[in-house]
Amino acid sequence: MFKNFELLQIGDPMLKLRAKEVDIEALQEGKQDALLKIMRMVANKNNYFELTAPQMGVLLRVVALKIDLFNESYPQDIKDNEVTLMINPKIKHIEGVSSSAEYELCTSCKGRTMLVERPDRIFLEYFTPEAIKVQIFVHGYSAHIVQHAIDHLDGKDFLVLENEEEEIIHRHR
Ligand SMILES: [Zn+2]
Repeated sequence: MFKNFELLQIGDPMLKLRAKEVDIEALQEGKQDALLKIMRMVANKNNYFELTAPQMGVLLRVVALKIDLFNESYPQDIKDNEVTLMINPKIKHIEGVSSSAEYELCTSCKGRTMLVERPDRIFLEYFTPEAIKVQIFVHGYSAHIVQHAIDHLDGKDFLVLENEEEEIIHRHR
């Protein structure tokens, strides 16, 4: 049923809006269970490495990542990875951390790769579907993917980048 689920694509005005925080009390009461279940299914059935609620037309700060957050290198095969659902994810940037430019794919921008410069190490905080607060350090390529997903929640348009693939966006903190 959720196979071939089409995500909103870059250029859609919805993707330029800032998503709202999920009410944690409502989360505890199970009021977001349907959305979370659908996001997990869509990410799994379509093998999306990243999926955010705004890409499905829901303006809430929910991210589903089908990557191993503790793997620092580029994810080769994500088929067997579990989906991690993150509610209200927040990043704290760490002083003095190096940045690098990595090629990024986007499920809202089929067939394009973008070279984006971002910090290589972040401190990430989010709530699980059970409303448990998680705080972890994320490194390497996974840190880049997390930041990319949070850009979706903030309505940032990576593809100001209508230019060339070699274009580098400098992310300012
Ligand atoms: Zn994306």
